[in-house]
Amino acid sequence: MPDIEHAIMAKDLHRTYNGRVAVDGISFVVKAGEVFGFLGPNGAGKTTTIRMLTAQLRPTSGTAQVAGCDIVTQRPDLKTRIGVVFEDQNIYERMTARENLMFYAQLYRVKPVRVQEVLEQMRLADRANEPVGRFSNGMKQRLIIARALLHHPRVLFLDEPTRGLDPVMGREIRGLIADLARQGMTIFLTTHYMEEADQLCQRVAIVDQGQIIALDAPARLKRQIAPQDDQVVVTTSDGQSDTLHLQQAPDQQKLVAWIQQGQLVDIHSPTVTLEDVFIQLTGRSLNS
Ligand code: ATP
Repeated sequence: MPDIEHAIMAKDLHRTYNGRVAVDGISFVVKAGEVFGFLGPNGAGKTTTIRMLTAQLRPTSGTAQVAGCDIVTQRPDLKTRIGVVFEDQNIYERMTARENLMFYAQLYRVKPVRVQEVLEQMRLADRANEPVGRFSNGMKQRLIIARALLHHPRVLFLDEPTRGLDPVMGREIRGLIADLARQGMTIFLTTHYMEEADQLCQRVAIVDQGQIIALDAPARLKRQIAPQDDQVVVTTSDGQSDTLHLQQAPDQQKLVAWIQQGQLVDIHSPTVTLEDVFIQLTGRSLNS
């Protein structure tokens, strides 16, 4: 029976490459309409997982259903129900954005009117008749997302959607992903940018060495480590910021002195990030 409430159900997925473990027993569920993130450092197994879920790579063991289809036994049906955006996807640079999309619309047997819809959705309509070779990387990425949306997929997979983009273009793409989420699209994305996972995802699986080491809403993941923290960030009247440990005597003395001298202008708890959660769990930084 297809499960309509769960867009993705993965059970104990494993994948090895020549005996080397890349994905080591991953299980999770993504609800319909949810934006779910896989956050982890390079080599954690994110791309391998997304390739298994999109039926490009067979798991060594384990099972998964995506949009109601088994990833191994129902591959052709699965492909019609998902949209995928990978880093290595090509677009025809000599063709215009519209021509690129028309080409795929014919391939997928999608009505031409849908091309205009996805162009508008990805805010490319006003540049639709220009050759893609003139586009910025951010616009090319928007076109690749538009193409993935052509056939009304039930689940959209995005592998590192903003990797290699400058901050402005990255923000633009995140905005468009958030728009899709508001329209009810189920989205599975991988990223090694903690802010991206934090901003976009309702729930995040933190992955390391092929395993999920934490899975929850970003705010809840961050709350787990906040209470153990005795740190405060202070700013003094000369504009300097410093992080102090309230349980350490020298820092307490510093703080008292600044207060007495009227030098303290701001004091607040440090902002906990998903990076801090990752460090707490693994002892390493996300981008090390
Ligand atoms: P990145 O962000 O660098 O792509 P990732 O989290 O997506 O990292 P994977 O690409 O899934 O990680 O890689 C997981 C592990 O599997 C790594 O150790 C990688 O070297 C290895 N690996 C990935 N693809 C292959 C392959 N085709 N052949 C052999 N080993 C591979």
